[in-house]
Amino acid sequence: MPPTKALNEAVALIRASQRIAIAAHVSPDVDAIGSTLGLGLALQSLGKQVLLLSEDGVPENLRFLPGAGLLRDALPPDFVPDLFIGLDSSDPDRLGDIVRPLLDGRIPVLNVDHHITNLNFGAINVVMPECAATAEVIVVLLDALGVPLGEDVAGCLMAGLVGDTRGFSVASVTPATFEVAARLLAAGADLAAISEAVLNRRSVGILRFWGVALSNLHLEDGLLWATVSLEERRRLDLMEIQKPELTNVLISAEEAEVAVLFTEKPDGLVDVSFRAKPGHDVAGVALALGGGGHPLAAGCEIEGPLDSAVRRVIGLLRERIALPAGGDGER
Ligand code: AMP
Ligand code: MN
Ligand code: MN
Repeated sequence: MPPTKALNEAVALIRASQRIAIAAHVSPDVDAIGSTLGLGLALQSLGKQVLLLSEDGVPENLRFLPGAGLLRDALPPDFVPDLFIGLDSSDPDRLGDIVRPLLDGRIPVLNVDHHITNLNFGAINVVMPECAATAEVIVVLLDALGVPLGEDVAGCLMAGLVGDTRGFSVASVTPATFEVAARLLAAGADLAAISEAVLNRRSVGILRFWGVALSNLHLEDGLLWATVSLEERRRLDLMEIQKPELTNVLISAEEAEVAVLFTEKPDGLVDVSFRAKPGHDVAGVALALGGGGHPLAAGCEIEGPLDSAVRRVIGLLRERIALPAGGDGER
């Protein structure tokens, strides 16, 4: 059920606003970029001026999306927004440094998301954990606004759906997800081309990153983890890789109940990406470490160095996740 009151308030706020800045989370995934572009183009079609922000740029395989060229990685001095919309981010910090000046209370913040761990940081919060992607929440919002779905908007939102559901193959997909997808298809989204770009395209750099991580694999009692140190990233020219998307591969291991990828960063923090087999919940562990996510896919950033981050996370997982103690991970 959409949060009706919040939805009505969001509609009124958008109608009353003229200059709207939109950003999703840093290290953007497909849902972050697709949702920003889809909502941005739809609001443009309503006659709004929009500023679309992505502090960390656009991953190469998503540059084909309509409107990708509109994304800016800094606040232009001549755009003074009267509304900020945060997308696909469960906490305001994860929206990045460049939007911080927009969160100081001078303009209203509309928080649109599907993470169960969302902190409801907006003046208005349209948070729907029952949706498989923020792109799906945006369709609910656009319906409430009465904006018809055009081909470009549909393509961007379809990309977000395909990305977060890995091609409609995960437990978060509901009949409503398929109803939304059917409407996006009918509006002209090219599902085959989008799926190919989103699921099957990656740079050689990402494959090299996988090579390093896969050569640093550890398996203990159903916990499978891989590490990539700052030194390895520097040596192999892998500093630019932000979304290696390897944790989905790690959790494919038969022996893994929970898979974790640790990536050491130059700011001294370690990016931690979790995946779990159905029946477990890594969102709580990520939340306890200052991050967030979904039961089967979550993440956080914690203090380094790498070794101590690994010890802390693996220790917490051992406390919080029911594991086949001393076993080989068979379920
Ligand atoms: P990832 O492993 O990066 O694909 O992220 C999996 C899920 O965890 C996504 O829903 C992310 O939004 C969430 N997530 C990842 N990193 C963080 C973080 N640092 N803080 C909060 N949520 C995160
Ligand atoms: Mn996301
Ligand atoms: Mn998402």
